[in-house]
Amino acid sequence: MFNTSKVYPKIMVVDDTPANLVAMRTILKKVSADLVLVASGGEALVEAVKQDFAVILLDVNMPEMDGFELAELLSVTEQTKSIPIIFVTAVHHDESSVLKGYASGAVDYVQKPILSEILLSKVNVFLDLWKLKAGLEIEISARRAAELEVHYLAQHDALTKLPNRRQIQTEIEHFIDRSHRREEKFAVLFLDLDGFKKINDDQGHEVGDALLIEIGQRFKREVRGVDLVGRYGGDEFIIILTDTDDPMMLKNKLQQLVTVATHPFRWKDKEMLISTSIGVALYPEHGITSDLLISNADTAMYLAKETGKNTFQFYSEKLNQQMKRSLLVEQHLRYALLSNELEVYYQPLIDVKTRTTIGAEALLRWNNDDLGVMSPDEFIPIAESAGLICEIGIWVLRQVADFMSEYPDLHLAVNASSLQFNNSQLHNEISYLISNNIISADKLEIEITEGVLLDRSGRAEEQLLAIHNLGVSLSVDDFGTGYSSLSYLKNCPITTVKIDRSFVSDIPNDKDNMILVRTIIAMAKGLNLKVIAEGVETEQQAEFIKQEGCDFAQGFLFAKPMNKQLFKDYLKTH
Ligand code: C2E
Ligand code: MG
Ligand code: MG
Repeated sequence: MFNTSKVYPKIMVVDDTPANLVAMRTILKKVSADLVLVASGGEALVEAVKQDFAVILLDVNMPEMDGFELAELLSVTEQTKSIPIIFVTAVHHDESSVLKGYASGAVDYVQKPILSEILLSKVNVFLDLWKLKAGLEIEISARRAAELEVHYLAQHDALTKLPNRRQIQTEIEHFIDRSHRREEKFAVLFLDLDGFKKINDDQGHEVGDALLIEIGQRFKREVRGVDLVGRYGGDEFIIILTDTDDPMMLKNKLQQLVTVATHPFRWKDKEMLISTSIGVALYPEHGITSDLLISNADTAMYLAKETGKNTFQFYSEKLNQQMKRSLLVEQHLRYALLSNELEVYYQPLIDVKTRTTIGAEALLRWNNDDLGVMSPDEFIPIAESAGLICEIGIWVLRQVADFMSEYPDLHLAVNASSLQFNNSQLHNEISYLISNNIISADKLEIEITEGVLLDRSGRAEEQLLAIHNLGVSLSVDDFGTGYSSLSYLKNCPITTVKIDRSFVSDIPNDKDNMILVRTIIAMAKGLNLKVIAEGVETEQQAEFIKQEGCDFAQGFLFAKPMNKQLFKDYLKTH
């Protein structure tokens, strides 16, 4: 049960006669206890307060302070009142003094001359009692510590030692109660680390764990003692900020939190960079329950992610509507493939000099009974975040392959999401289509975004190269809207750039864009790349790009995207 071996009891003997003290010591050698011998009531009082005695053997007859007086003092002093006292007296037969002794706090008597058996037996009773009591105390404090530990573990995250999800919720409820009473405001911040998964996957969990601990501490240092930093789960933190009345100050604080996450994280000889996206919901305007505040802060966090990460965003009702919409879209999108709601459209690709159609770009369309016809600009990002894009991408490719087997001379371009370069599915499918003679490699083009080229993990690069090695052309779509550097194209297996339509659409009114288009074409030519101009809508635009040496064009001037049947009809006449 408990271990009392470490606790050793003490006995104090109080007697003004030295010979009596010596006699007592001789007798008490037989008990397992430390002895403290004192010669006066005053001394006894001092010792009794300092140490925890199992029992005090007290001589009744002493000069200055006698045993009764001392016993009385001990019985009213907080630290000493529960120490048992045995009076050592020759006057036991005097009934009144016995009563006086009990009244002043004695629990027992031994009479002089002392019979050692009697003394030892009485003393041992108190020693046993004391040991029991000490053992119980130890057990009680151990239990209390264990309870505290369980309580702590239930409220805190084991890794970061910060309040956990459950505790955060409780704390927000406390903040709501208090703020409601005092008519105060506070903010709930939902923080999600950007790129944490990658560090965790690439560097290992040990590094990931250390990073989470460090970031949690950084956040804690940024906020006030009354505020709260908790770990909500994974790489998500929640911060409750009070004192949010001044919007400027709140914004500064949010910016500080964003900044502090970007400080380099060092692990052994490595240095890593991470950032955080923060969503903010304010009490009471964005919610008056902890669930709603957390969920709205979470919603705002997603917007912060969408607007480029490493930033903060406040919740708003409009945002909420957007989120609800994308949730709805996602739910329907899961069944779009099964219920045959997707369709591939084709937009002709025109040779600028001859004005002949040499191929087409495959563009996805989605017609849903409830949501209507939806633009890929809306549903592709949702398909990406819902993890559906690879499956959809493969489906588009198979549709295009079908078409290509009917029209083997056409050059067909298929858009691919950057997420399709994280695995080898796309490569495997293309490889299968080529080796089974369903398509011919030199007729297929895969359109990628600039982001794929910037991916430093090496995975995308490997996939690009593998696809290039199959003999398939690769083009950079929407060129100029992203990183906008031709220099990185030099080392990539890219064959074509597609100038984004936003640069073409304002020609000839926007002189800057004309210069930009001219420069992109010239530099691409210098790198031996083909150039396609997107979104050509007027003769003037077509003429301009032709003069600049652009090879191909797409746009409403020539043809809009059309479904398979209409495109087949179109091909008959073009
Ligand atoms: P994108 O690849 O840049 O496709 C060109 C977009 O410009 C198409 O929009 C097309 O309809 C539009 N367009 C073409 N010519 C003109 C013009 O003269 N004027 C104007 N104003 N617009 C023109 P769409 O079909 O809505 O596709 C939007 C984007 O969705 C595409 O941009 C592409 O990034 C993405 N997307 C489409 N299909 C797929 C797909 O199968 N997979 C993936 N991952 N993304 C796709
Ligand atoms: Mg495209
Ligand atoms: Mg484009």
